[in-house]
Amino acid sequence: MLTPEQAYELQRARGRRYYLKHREQKLLYQKWYRQKNCERIRVARLEARHKNPRPHNERGLRWALKHPRQQKNQRLKRSFGIDLAAYERLLLEQHGVCAICERPERAMRNGKVLMLAVDHSHETGKVRGLLCGKCNRLIGGLSLVNIRAAVSYLEKL
Ligand SMILES: [Zn+2]
Repeated sequence: MLTPEQAYELQRARGRRYYLKHREQKLLYQKWYRQKNCERIRVARLEARHKNPRPHNERGLRWALKHPRQQKNQRLKRSFGIDLAAYERLLLEQHGVCAICERPERAMRNGKVLMLAVDHSHETGKVRGLLCGKCNRLIGGLSLVNIRAAVSYLEKL
């Protein structure tokens, strides 16, 4: 006789084997189902969100409000691979202003001045410096070649 734990393990192993054997079929079926019912899925998602707005986010939001520094730290690490201490060192080196226009950030959100944006090279992933929102948006879509071209274009007149 099997103990309940052994029976459970056996069941799990069976399920796992079945899944591995039929994985391709399952994935194909899921894809087909999603394509066939995409409108229905979209509506159901919208309805669910409407009925219960941001249920999974509520805890995260409460936490972020209570621990603003940790939240900033996590966001910086996740997005740019630097922590808050590194950000603050950069900010100090730049005397708290944008690395391009040398002015502090002025854009506000929820009554607070925004942080300077972390600018990083999309090729190397390395952080170049901190920029105000305007300068960040300005260089965001431009490559070095385009910036040089833009400068010589502007210098024409
Ligand atoms: Zn700037």
